[in-house]
Amino acid sequence: LGKRITSAVSDLARSNVVDEKVFDGMLKEICSALIEADVNVKLVSNLRKSIKHTVNFKELNPNVNKKRLIQKAVFDELVKLVDPHSEPFKPKKGRSNVIMFVGLQGSGKTTTCTKLARHYQARGFKACLVCADTFRAGAFDQLKQNATKAKIPYYGSYTETDPVKVSREGVEKFKKERFDIIIVDTSGRHQQEKELFAEMVQIQQAVTPDQTIMVLDASIGQAAEAQSKAFKESADFGAIIITKTDGHAAGGGAISAVAATRTPIVFIGTGEHMLDLERFAPQAFVSKLLGMGDMQGLVEHVQSLKLDQKDTMKHIQEGIFTVRDLRDQLGNIMKMGPLSKMAGMIPGLSQMMGDVGDEEGSMKLKRMIYIMDSMTEKELDSDGKCFTDSPTRMTRIAHGSGTSVREVEDVLTQHRMMAGMAKKMGKNMANMQKQGVGM
Ligand code: GDP
Ligand code: MG
Repeated sequence: LGKRITSAVSDLARSNVVDEKVFDGMLKEICSALIEADVNVKLVSNLRKSIKHTVNFKELNPNVNKKRLIQKAVFDELVKLVDPHSEPFKPKKGRSNVIMFVGLQGSGKTTTCTKLARHYQARGFKACLVCADTFRAGAFDQLKQNATKAKIPYYGSYTETDPVKVSREGVEKFKKERFDIIIVDTSGRHQQEKELFAEMVQIQQAVTPDQTIMVLDASIGQAAEAQSKAFKESADFGAIIITKTDGHAAGGGAISAVAATRTPIVFIGTGEHMLDLERFAPQAFVSKLLGMGDMQGLVEHVQSLKLDQKDTMKHIQEGIFTVRDLRDQLGNIMKMGPLSKMAGMIPGLSQMMGDVGDEEGSMKLKRMIYIMDSMTEKELDSDGKCFTDSPTRMTRIAHGSGTSVREVEDVLTQHRMMAGMAKKMGKNMANMQKQGVGM
């Protein structure tokens, strides 16, 4: 999906004259890409109308930057699709907040409820887990293992077969013990869907959760709409968590689920590890969908790690990106690990590194840094053009760093790409300041 939308938008960026025909073609391409990625057809048709309405060519002031306007319209409409503008539940300390998880077997409930408990625990909440999955043998062991690893108190039973009873007992016990966050994990599996939904409703009535969260696998695809509606009708949930966003799924299912149920996505699962839970950010999600790379996410992550980033940020705002900026960025990434995830935040870097594991990827990054460390101060602070017309310079650096000319070229290609983006971003920021638009 990302690729097709990106190519549609960049086709537009390439064509010098943006007229209604070019615009219609682009819109058509984007819409069919969205439908292919399992976004609901009616939804896409509304999106199309809405964008056409926003960008009305006949009434446009000829001085307005049309490309920019269209890009912003597409971006905004997609953000609107995943952002239902309803506030999710916020737990309060000093009282018992009961959160119940629902979702199909294998969607990631047990994994995610531990992640969420840990998330709140790290923020000073007293959190615990209740295992109401009495259906599957080993379900309690799985929760127990996760909870023990994260040092989170838990409740469950090996002998009791009634999930309603177990969940009621667990929640009552932890309420007495004054826990702030009590998370109830359910089974999500039954012989018949009807029984599953009946059981969910019974548990919901027994524990009266402050929030019910539906867990949805990112690869759910076309089934997302029907499934989330079915869940919503029986166990009305107030929030969605999308798991396995680190996989290859297009993410169209997530959009459909939000739109079909008018329910916000609160977190996304980004891996199997306990810490792989991120707050859902509509703008970053859409940027990624459009293949724009998660620059914002990277910047925030770097800021949260208190790494020195000042010069590069200032440069980007001015539309500049030197070879040294690339060196600093890659150096930062090395410090941040796990590499596979960080690389995804820098546009184009993950494609360049290919499908490699973290270890091999680190090695590649290290070699890129060696290459830049073999450059002179002047070369580092340059825009990289001094290399393109001097093969001997590249050979010198390949020798000095113990790498190959091919690898030096790769570094310069990566740099060129990011410099191009920085230039665009710098221009956009300047334009926005001029026009007074915030994005
Ligand atoms: P449940 O049946 O709904 O409780 O699902 P589980 O929590 O047992 O998860 C099913 C599988 O999905 C497990 O192998 C998890 O490790 C995996 N899983 C869950 N969340 C994620 C995620 O965000 N990313 C990845 N890659 N795997 C996940
Ligand atoms: Mg489970």
